Order: sequence, then structure tokens, then C-alpha cells
Amino acid sequence: MQTQQLVPMALMQTLTYVLQNSNFYKKSFKGINTVSNEFSFHEWRKLPFTCKDDISENNLDFLAVPMSEIADFVTTSGTMGDPVTIYLSRSDLKRLAINERDSLALAGVKEGDLVQLMTTIDRQFMAGIAYYLGIQELKAGIIRIGPGVPELQWTSILKYKPRVLIAVPSFILILIDYAKKHGISLLDNSVETIVCIGESIRDDKFNLNVLGNRITKDWNVNLYSTYACTEMATAFTECHAQQGCHLNENLLFLEVLDENGNEVEDGEEGEIVITTLVTTGTPLVRYKTGDIAKRFNQICSCGSSSPRLGPIVGRKNQMIKFKGTTIFPQTIFDVFDVIEEVVCYKIIVSKDDFHNDLITILLQKELMDSTIFKLIVEKCQSRLKVIPTFKFEALELIQAQVYKKNLRKPEKIVFI
Ligand SMILES: [Zn+2]
Repeated sequence: MQTQQLVPMALMQTLTYVLQNSNFYKKSFKGINTVSNEFSFHEWRKLPFTCKDDISENNLDFLAVPMSEIADFVTTSGTMGDPVTIYLSRSDLKRLAINERDSLALAGVKEGDLVQLMTTIDRQFMAGIAYYLGIQELKAGIIRIGPGVPELQWTSILKYKPRVLIAVPSFILILIDYAKKHGISLLDNSVETIVCIGESIRDDKFNLNVLGNRITKDWNVNLYSTYACTEMATAFTECHAQQGCHLNENLLFLEVLDENGNEVEDGEEGEIVITTLVTTGTPLVRYKTGDIAKRFNQICSCGSSSPRLGPIVGRKNQMIKFKGTTIFPQTIFDVFDVIEEVVCYKIIVSKDDFHNDLITILLQKELMDSTIFKLIVEKCQSRLKVIPTFKFEALELIQAQVYKKNLRKPEKIVFI
């Protein structure tokens, strides 16, 4: 992008709107004149970033409409740090519905389809309500089962015959495990598509990663990746070409920036920085998500020219420094997801007395002293270059620590 190029009208509208309505940006962008139509990307790049701490420390200053106009109060998932509130106006809810309608349409969901939602819709969770609204906007049907309880999920699948599931992919492994143990056919049921949230299912070449492969090995389903965070109130979703998740350019402006704040080249990796478009409740400008992914600018084989994001490589603040190597959680997930005998595991990252990261892995006690455990150690050695500490517990106890009732996503890793 040429820095002399003028910023698009939609971006100017966001900038003008926050300067008039957001107390945070009135202070943060003091002295910035947007009256001129000559606002170029050169000037845009000088705008300070917004980060999660800004929203958490000045939460109410981000509210850009009177509180009485807020239709829905959502909170961030709290992957790191305390959750913050994102205030949605009625028009933001409409935007959310359009976002998810377009997003699901990319994954081939259409009018008349039946979708089973395996994520929570309450607890101020944005994704659940976004899916609900989007499915209504698409004129499709929804079965709101919510997270967990494989028995209930299967009862519903067999009874209502949904074509599409929306789920976290590691939970699909548990569904598969349940089906195998209870004589439910994975070859002959209604499910054709699973829209995956919260976890990567592809590697950086867009092939299915170990988690994705483990699902499709047993279940002939088409998996679609998504990427979203609450603050952006928008989802990036794969089309049928499955070559990265598409940006919805009407709802969000995307920058993928290197360490120096410069836009990365096509196919390069950087931090995802977003600016919301047509948002009125909690508009954000140059918000640093902390998520790292590759950006792809070439026209997709589906015909869309919207930029795409590759799988999330990791979060900036989830880099683990372990015995001289740097590891992202996904690398550890890849080691354990591939081993079928590992039904569930939990990674605990802590600090020693010298502030070095320590990695402990909880594994089911049946694996202790087994040949599978020897294989795990070998895989850690070759993939991670280091061997973490292992602790063995009953499977149910590990599952309770991963699929916590008050959490929306499985907590496969925790930093303490
Ligand atoms: Zn495409």
C-alpha cells in the first residue's frame, strides 16, 4: 500500500466518528485534523495503536453512545488478563448478524440449512449470539445445544439431522471418541460441514494440521477455519478454496504489521491490527490483537480479492521461552493432538526462580510407563527440541481442567 494513497471513505468515517463520540480517542488523537479530505496512509500510520490494556484501564471511555442505547453487553473471552466489556448498540447487533451471515455463507451454509451450535450463547459470549443472529439472517435453522455433553450432542444430531456443526475442533475429537464407544456410525450421519472456532485446524501451507487430520480420518466432514476476536466483532472465514480466512472489507479494516509497525509483504507474518467499520457502540482504531498470522493479498481462486489470513501462529504474549528455544503453544498442540491414545491433555506454563518458563504436561495416568509415553518423549525431543515435565492424572480430572464450565473455549494451556 502506497503511503501517499488516501485512506478509504469508510475508514475516514470511523476516524471522524471516534473523534466526535469516543472519550478515549478524543484524548488519544488530540490535535488530529480529519476535516481535510487529504488524510493519507502516511498520516494514518502516525495514529497511535490501541491495545487491550487501554480498553481494560479505560473501558467506559470507549463507549461511544449513551449507555441507554446499548442493546447487548459482551465481554472478551479473557484468554489473557481480565475480560473487558464491549458495548454493542442495536446497529452493532445488526452488523454482527451481517458479519456472521456473510461468514457462514463463505463456508457454504445456506438458506434452509440446519446448524447445531456447540458453543455457549449466554455468559456475555459474543460468538454464540453472533452465530444465532447470522443464522437467522441467512434464513437457516439452529439447534442451540451449547458446549460439552457428547451424549446430548449426538442425540440431537441423530434426531434433527443438522448438516452443519459449529464447534471447537478439539471437542469434535471427544464426539468421535463417544461415537466409537457407543456404536454411532461416523460414516452414515447428517453432518457434512463443521465450522471450527477457537483453534487452528490448518498448517501454514493450508493443509489440515494434526488436529484437523485426526477429525477427518474418522469422519468424512468438510472443516472450515475461522478467526475472530470479540473486540473486532467480525469473523474471518475460509471459503471453499480453503486458502486462508477472508476479511469482510465492509466491516473491518485490516493491517498486518511487523515489529516496526510496517505492513508486511504478501505471504509474510505479522501482528493483526484492526479498525472497526460502521461500529457505533465500541469503535476501535488500530487495535493490536496480539495475534500473529500471515497475510495473503492475491486474488483467491473463489474470485474474491479481499485479503486473507493464514492460521494464527500464536499470540505475542504466549511465546514460551524454554531452555534457549522459543515455542508457540500450537507447536506443543501439534505434538499431542496427533497421538490418538492421548484423549485429553493440559499444558501448564509456569516460571522458575530465575523467571525461565517451565512447561508441565498433564497426561492420563494410563499412559505412564507405556510405549506411547516413550513415543511422546521422542516427539517432544524432535519437534520441541526439549522435554517438558510430565504429570499423570485420571482422565476425568484432566478433562475437568480443560473443559471448564465457566469457560467458552477448552483451556488446553494455562500460564501461571
Ligand atoms: Zn476465497
